[in-house]
Amino acid sequence: MDQDKINGADRRAFLQAGAIAAAAASGLTRSGEAHAQAQAITEPAQKSPEIPRRKLGKTGVEITMLDQGAVRGASLDRVLRFSFAAGVRTFDTAKIYGSEPNFKAWFEKSPEVRKQIFLVTKDSPRTPGQMLKMVDERLATLGTDYIDLFFVHGFGDHHSVDDAIKFIAGDEFKEVADKIRKSGKAKFLGFSSHNKNRAPIIQAAAEAGIVDAIMLQYTPWLEKDSALNKALDVCWKKNVGLISMKQIAGRGFGDQPKGNILDEVVRRVPTLAEKKLSPFQGLLHAIWTDERISSVCVSMRNTDQIRENTDAARRFEPLKTADIHQLRDAFIAQGQMMCADCDGRCAVAAGTKAELGDLTRYLTYHQHHGLRADARRQYAELSAEARDWSNADLAAAQEACPNKLDFAKLLPEVDRRLA
Ligand code: SF4
Repeated sequence: MDQDKINGADRRAFLQAGAIAAAAASGLTRSGEAHAQAQAITEPAQKSPEIPRRKLGKTGVEITMLDQGAVRGASLDRVLRFSFAAGVRTFDTAKIYGSEPNFKAWFEKSPEVRKQIFLVTKDSPRTPGQMLKMVDERLATLGTDYIDLFFVHGFGDHHSVDDAIKFIAGDEFKEVADKIRKSGKAKFLGFSSHNKNRAPIIQAAAEAGIVDAIMLQYTPWLEKDSALNKALDVCWKKNVGLISMKQIAGRGFGDQPKGNILDEVVRRVPTLAEKKLSPFQGLLHAIWTDERISSVCVSMRNTDQIRENTDAARRFEPLKTADIHQLRDAFIAQGQMMCADCDGRCAVAAGTKAELGDLTRYLTYHQHHGLRADARRQYAELSAEARDWSNADLAAAQEACPNKLDFAKLLPEVDRRLA
């Protein structure tokens, strides 16, 4: 799209459509959606065949290509059941999401479900030894006697890179992981990470070979020579399973959609119309085109998203690189706010010590992921220097960012919402 030709109203509408598209792939919610979602979820679910599966690395377990993220929300119980009925068999929760009790209630009412799903949960140990107690706590909260995959949550956020590597590649972690696997309380172990330093951490973890799987903030247009892409190659070689999360997030500061502007995305990416894919189905296909990724974790919030995404999984065919690049350009044009492929080059270009990628990520949590308190807490934990972008060259930061984040618009919002 030629950005210069868009008038103000059209541009706002396009950005909002982008946020809708991104919602299906990243679990966004928008103000005003709640009523429509509640209505949609009251429809009876038709039982559908399971969606396609991929092997999750060395676990040998074939998990569904779509993974229902379970961030708490008013309709979560019905969403979980709808997702199951639509064929999803991989479910992702965490202590911090507050949604584990929803699973407990589900298993109590429908005990047959537990064995049919691959259940992932997470907690945040500072040392490997803390994991033993944490696994027990998660089991009690979930109301099950085993977890399929236990992740160290947000790995890298509370450790230096060196400490994180010592943790994940060290003897203590190996001993604890072996003990937990042997106990049967968690069959497999790994970590999730969106940290800007996740590339060296993921690479070191894959080389050490202790973890079974990793869930990472991912984008289907990773630069070929980027450290993250190379780290994923090591995972693939070492048979460490990979799950994609937080693949993209759009801007949404309350504008209402005007007109069917998703047509504009379809215009920019002709393969979408040819394959009868929506923009967000195209995004899922772009991610699955990377055979290293076993599953995509999406916090689907309503039945429309579940139907659309499960349909995408059933109709998956790899996209051509040129199509993925067109999709990338279309999504970037709609104004992302999530830092999705982050080595911190924006801050270097801007000449600041402020953590520009983290700041925009926390804003995304606040605005789109329903994690307001958590976003504020993480913002508060940053040093004053990491929060102070006042002398940053924001135009240079935007220019350097592969996702062209509009820092001049986003950072004042960070201060307004999170400070
Ligand atoms: S340049 Fe963009 S993608 Fe990279 S760290 Fe900064 S915000 Fe994130």
